[in-house]
Amino acid sequence: MKEIILLKLGEMVLKGLNRSTFEHVLLKNIKRRMARIGKFEIRSAQSTVYIIPQDDMIDMDEAVEAVGKIFGVITFSRACECEKNMDSILKTAAEYLAPQLEMIQTFKVESKRADKSFPLKSPQISAELGGYLLEKFPHLRVDVHHPDLEITVEIRDFAAYVRGGVIPGAGGIPVGTGGRAAILISGGIDSPVAAWSIAKRGVELTAVHFASPPYTSERAEQKVVDLLTRVSEYAGRMMMFTVPFTHIQEEIREKCPEDLFTLIMRRFMMRIAERIAKREDCAALVTGESLGQVASQTIQAIACTDAAASMPVFRPLIGMDKAEIVALARKIDTFDISIQPYEDCCTVFTPKHPRTRPDPAMIEEAEAALDADALIEECMANLKLTKIGWGSRRS
Ligand code: ATP
Ligand code: MG
Repeated sequence: MKEIILLKLGEMVLKGLNRSTFEHVLLKNIKRRMARIGKFEIRSAQSTVYIIPQDDMIDMDEAVEAVGKIFGVITFSRACECEKNMDSILKTAAEYLAPQLEMIQTFKVESKRADKSFPLKSPQISAELGGYLLEKFPHLRVDVHHPDLEITVEIRDFAAYVRGGVIPGAGGIPVGTGGRAAILISGGIDSPVAAWSIAKRGVELTAVHFASPPYTSERAEQKVVDLLTRVSEYAGRMMMFTVPFTHIQEEIREKCPEDLFTLIMRRFMMRIAERIAKREDCAALVTGESLGQVASQTIQAIACTDAAASMPVFRPLIGMDKAEIVALARKIDTFDISIQPYEDCCTVFTPKHPRTRPDPAMIEEAEAALDADALIEECMANLKLTKIGWGSRRS
């Protein structure tokens, strides 16, 4: 039996988006993702994309998992190819769908006949297959209104396909149709979810991570690489810039009031991330902040952080509860990595009593004690680059 994956393009087109650009980018993304798994023929015809394995050794479960992470796909299905005659269609359907049919009570058959030279009309195909399945699986009943399983037979120009049920896709918009943004990524739970959320809206990502060796370890940085590798299964490959942040943090600790420490540090993160973002053609910054979660995430603190950057700062998690963020982190499989106990630069010098209602003038005055330009230049001269998701395959 030859199994393929079918995607319906018609269901994916959003109002207002240029359809041909959308489809073009989506096809390019599908080709790139599938190439990591094996050799596939990817064909687009009559508003349907056919993902056809070219090698018997290809693991179709892995292929289905990968398709389920491509933004822009609303639903898709696994289908079995067969010869264009009723005998082959009946036998294939009974054999291919047996595992599903054994689990359910009711079904319905829908047929579509793109090849009008096929001798039976659509209702006849459905009736014949329905009758055959009722005979083979006597526990089944037909329910045309609310079936447990909807079986579809399609007669195409080149072959016939039998499929049972649709699989929910990742939704969203194809990555690459919405520009590029820089995600400030820590090893925590929130920022990988923020990265995923923005990629879902079609945005390509560049990652910026602040590390403070020796206070933060190499293992903490590897954790971020691992997180981004998971995110890249959805967001596509990306560059990660690691910023050496130790000197800035030590300077702040030495020269600024302790209660402003976190905020000043966050303002430096914004300035540096914006420098990298501009250089890398990003039009926005993204963080994993959620209103009121910690002292640096009050409205006043966020206003002070934003004042340090001129680019728009997107915070896709701003209105979410921790439990909602955790549920998403589990869904995208980053949670287990995020909870590994490695320190983040933010937690290294946490003040005992951070100021929750900072005053911008007070912060500017405190920052005057630092040579901000020189500190930022020093970071920019020592960035480390890591490629995420280039040809990597999840083991
Ligand atoms: P997360 O779970 O993403 O670490 P958090 O709730 O722990 O978030 P903070 O530590 O205050 O919150 O960080 C807020 C945001 O600042 C993060 O979501 C992330 O976007 C950014 N951030 C924090 N630490 C770093 C870091 N070391 N490198 C880059 N960005 C960071
Ligand atoms: Mg954090």
